[in-house]
Amino acid sequence: MLLGAPGVGKGTQAEMLCAKVGACHLSTGDIFRAAKALDEYERTPALTSALHCMRRGELVSDETVLALIAERVGCLKCEGGFLLDGFPRTVAQAEALEALLSKNRLQLDAVISYDLPIEKIVSRLSGRRTCPQCKAVFHIEALPPKVEGVCDHCGAKLYQREDDRPESVRVRMQAYETSTAPLAEFYKVRGLLRSVSAEGIPEEICARTLQILVNGSKPNSKAFSSLR
Ligand code: AMP
Repeated sequence: MLLGAPGVGKGTQAEMLCAKVGACHLSTGDIFRAAKALDEYERTPALTSALHCMRRGELVSDETVLALIAERVGCLKCEGGFLLDGFPRTVAQAEALEALLSKNRLQLDAVISYDLPIEKIVSRLSGRRTCPQCKAVFHIEALPPKVEGVCDHCGAKLYQREDDRPESVRVRMQAYETSTAPLAEFYKVRGLLRSVSAEGIPEEICARTLQILVNGSKPNSKAFSSLR
């Protein structure tokens, strides 16, 4: 599980880690963004309300998020393991996940908490540009595309996520402090929390994360045995 404030780079790390360990990437944020492409009549009222919350930077209700996770319980049983990114975001979600894992006799190997100073978080979020097609992530200063505004990989026009705009970023940071930051303690007392610095380029952060996973996960963890 990846924890950390919005903008620390959880999504990028999730992609890189899944490519290395062959796990199934489960991102509730990606699920909501994919739902934006649906026509109005294809969305349930709960999904429409979730998309309004997301646009404003607010958290979607636990009920809606948990219903989505229940529909995707198959991902948690993936042969290569699973990697949770952006879920859980509240203690209630973490408790529900704990019950779901125990019911399915699954275990969480580690919870990575990415740390980054607030000024770097704000700069990462405001400069982030995303490809709507292949989901590649760029940064206008730290990782600019070869041609401004165009994805290096598939040529699609890059966009700024609605919730990366300053007014939504403020709301997201507040929601993080109030609802998500307490999860660090939740997993610390369960002996699962591993802190990782999110400073530097994605490859460095990924190497740091793998090192911690290999050295710090439970010895019987299947997911990282191939990396040991
Ligand atoms: P992310 O891509 O993880 O930053 O998520 C983008 C947005 O989706 C968040 O700002 C929330 O509005 C919504 N969201 C994603 N995951 C959750 C969750 N587990 N609980 C509540 N809201 C969520």
